[in-house]
Amino acid sequence: MFSNTNPFNLTFLSEYQYITDIQAVSYCEASKSTFNVWKTYSLHDRLKLIENLIYTLSKNKDALAKQCTLEMGKPIKQSVAEVEKCILLCKYYLENALNFLSPHTIKTDGTESFVTFEPLGVILGVMPWNFPYWQVFRFAIPSIIAGNTVVLKHASNVAGCGILLEKLFIDAGFPEGTYKNLLISGEQVANIIDLPFIKAVSLTGSEKAGASVASKAAGLIKKSVLELGGSNAFIVLKDADIEKAVATAVTARMQNTGQSCIAAKRFLVHQSIYDVFIDKFKTAVQALKTGNPMEEDADIGPLARVDLAEEIEKQVVKSVEMGAKIVIGGKRDNAFYTPTIMTDITTDMPVFNEEVFGPVAPVIPFDTFEEAVELSNGTEFGLGVTIFTEDREAIKKKIHLFEEGAVFINALVKSDPALPFGGVKKSGYGRELAENGIKEFVNVKTVYIK
Ligand code: NAP
Repeated sequence: MFSNTNPFNLTFLSEYQYITDIQAVSYCEASKSTFNVWKTYSLHDRLKLIENLIYTLSKNKDALAKQCTLEMGKPIKQSVAEVEKCILLCKYYLENALNFLSPHTIKTDGTESFVTFEPLGVILGVMPWNFPYWQVFRFAIPSIIAGNTVVLKHASNVAGCGILLEKLFIDAGFPEGTYKNLLISGEQVANIIDLPFIKAVSLTGSEKAGASVASKAAGLIKKSVLELGGSNAFIVLKDADIEKAVATAVTARMQNTGQSCIAAKRFLVHQSIYDVFIDKFKTAVQALKTGNPMEEDADIGPLARVDLAEEIEKQVVKSVEMGAKIVIGGKRDNAFYTPTIMTDITTDMPVFNEEVFGPVAPVIPFDTFEEAVELSNGTEFGLGVTIFTEDREAIKKKIHLFEEGAVFINALVKSDPALPFGGVKKSGYGRELAENGIKEFVNVKTVYIK
C-alpha cells in the first residue's frame, strides 16, 4: 500500500495497493492471448484504433492534464501541451506507419529478396514520472502499431496517470490487454521479465533502474532499450545571436521545472560574451512565475517530490562548499526549488559532473572551441547538445566531435515524433520515435528467393 501526495501543498491525493505477483502474471498472460489476435489485425485496422485514440485523448485532455499536475506538479499549461504532443505522435505514425512497416525490397544475386517487419510479442515498458503520458506514448504507440502488445509499469508517484492511460485504450476500443497497466513496484519487475512470453523491455529512468532491468533481460537473452539520464551542454559561441540564445536557454533548463532528461544542464559560454549572457539570463529567469502549478500563468511548479528537491539542494550546497557562487535562487521550500543560476564552477562539482534534475543552471566560460567540446563531452552522459552560432556551415563540419545522440544548432534539444531519440554512453541505447523507434521491437525477417 502506498499513497501519493500533491507536491504543491503536500496534501493527500490517493492510496494505491500494488497488485500481487500472481495478479501481474495473469494480466501478462491475458496480454499474451491478446497478442495472438492483435498480430493478425491488418495495419489498416490497427491504425483505425489509433484514430479512435486521438479522439479519446482530445476528449480527456483536461482531465489528463489535471491529474498530471496534481501528481507531479507540472505547470498546467505544460501538462496540456504534453497531451497535445501525444496526439501529434499518433498522427505522425498514422501518416507514416504503412511506409515504415511495408516489406522492403533488397537487390541481391537472388531472383527476389526482401525484409518484412513482424511483431515480437508482449513488450514490457517501465516508465518515469517526469512526462507521464509522453514517455509512455512514445514507447507504446509504435510498439502497438507494429503488432505487439504492451504491459506497462509506471512510476509509483504517477499511479493515477497510469490508470487513466489504460482507460484511454479501452475507451478507444482496443482489444482488452493490448495495453495493460501493471500497478507493481520496481522489485516486482524482474518477475515479469522472467516470463517466457515477455519478449523485450524498454525502460526510461535512472541508471540504477536501467542497469537492473537490462542485466535481468540480458541474462534471459531478451532485448532492452534504455533511455536514461543526461547532462546536456548548451554552448554559446561568440558569434551567437545572444538574445535568442538566452531565450532558448531559459526554456531548455526551466521547462518542466528542470525535470527533463534532455534539459540543458551545463551552460558553456564564450568568455567574450559571458558577463552579458549572465545578466540577460538572470533577468529572463527572474521573470518566470513560480507558484501553484494549477494556475494558467505558472511557469515553474514544485518538483515532483520533496526528496527530489532535497537531492538538488544537496548538489547545490556541496558545489557552493567547493567554491561555486549563486547568482540567483538556491533556496528550497518543501518541494519547491527556486530557479537558480550558478557561476565559478569547476568540473569536479556535483552541479557539473552529476545530473541535476531540477531548475539549476551552472554557467561556465570557455576560451576556445576545443575547450568547449572537451567540457561538453566531459560527462558520462550523451543524450544531446545545443550549440548557438550564426555560422551554420562551419558547425556542421564539427558535429562528429560531440559524443551525443543528438546535436541541435540554435535550438533546444527536443523530442519530435519525426526525429530519432536516444543517447550514447550512460544515457542508454536504442532509439525511440521516427522510423527507428517503430523498428526497435520487430523481427526484421530476411526473405531470399533463388
Ligand atoms: P527511476 O527511479 O529509475 O524510475 C523510473 C521507473 O523505473 C519507475 O517506474 C520506477 O518505479 C522504476 N524502477 C525503479 N527502480 C527499479 C528497479 N530496480 N527495477 C525496475 N524498475 C525500477 O527514475 P526517475 O527518478 O523516476 O526518473 C528520473 C530519471 O529518468 C532521470 O535520470 C532522467 O534523466 C531519466 N529520464 C530519461 C529520459 C530519456 O528519455 N533518456 C526521459 C525521462 C527521464 P517506482 O516509481 O515504483 O520506483
